[in-house]
Amino acid sequence: MTDGPAPIGAPSAGAAPRDPSAAPAVGLADAIDALLPQTQCTKCGFDGCRPYAEAIAGGQAQIDRCPPGGAAGIARLASLLGRPELPLNPECGAESPRRVAWIDPALCIGCTKCIQACPVDAILGARRRMHTVAASLCTGCDLCVAPCPVDCIAMLPLPEAVAGWSDGDALAARSRHRARGLRLAREHQHRQQRLAARGSAAQPQADPAQDAQARKRAVIEAAMRRARERLERSPR
Ligand code: SF4
Ligand code: SF4
Ligand code: SF4
Repeated sequence: MTDGPAPIGAPSAGAAPRDPSAAPAVGLADAIDALLPQTQCTKCGFDGCRPYAEAIAGGQAQIDRCPPGGAAGIARLASLLGRPELPLNPECGAESPRRVAWIDPALCIGCTKCIQACPVDAILGARRRMHTVAASLCTGCDLCVAPCPVDCIAMLPLPEAVAGWSDGDALAARSRHRARGLRLAREHQHRQQRLAARGSAAQPQADPAQDAQARKRAVIEAAMRRARERLERSPR
């Protein structure tokens, strides 16, 4: 364990001990997911906490890959699954107190890249306007830092009194992550529908004048064919 604030995922005060026998009832992946910190930081090597939970449940990943959860998180997973505790896998990063993102208002150019990267919709702003982080919603995942083209996002330490991350915080972050996923899926669907509508509007329409000419040509050709046949049948 590190000194300083409780690591993300540490059991909140007064939390009831989890009953491992409850796991099958809600699904093993659900039970594992409920123990993960939900920062959605991807440091475990998976695209968020839920995919990591599913990989653990499916036997494809060890329980030692979540730096925000740290040693306490690993202990909770070990207890749920009846496995020995492991040290945090250093390939995934190191355990550290939670930090929050801060955007330098003097440098932000309003490109929205950080909004697109934030897995829990904790950044507010509009195109070509200054962006800001809602610190109470920020999980500290730092996914917004790399995409910023002007390097104006810093990850700041929090005072010990507010740096903790309770199960309730994790639950709220998971809800925001899910809501964001649904919003993105809806936007994608609307985009596809608009493209499809534009595509069908661009299809060449039948030309009524050309249709009439083709019909006329067919009638004349049929009449000439009948006349030729009559001539061939008539006595010479
Ligand atoms: S908090 Fe990050 S490292 Fe931990 S499970 Fe979630 S996405 Fe993976
Ligand atoms: S603001 Fe940045 S650090 Fe905070 S949750 Fe969003 S992407 Fe992660
Ligand atoms: S990525 Fe950087 S410059 Fe772009 S909106 Fe976010 S903070 Fe501002």
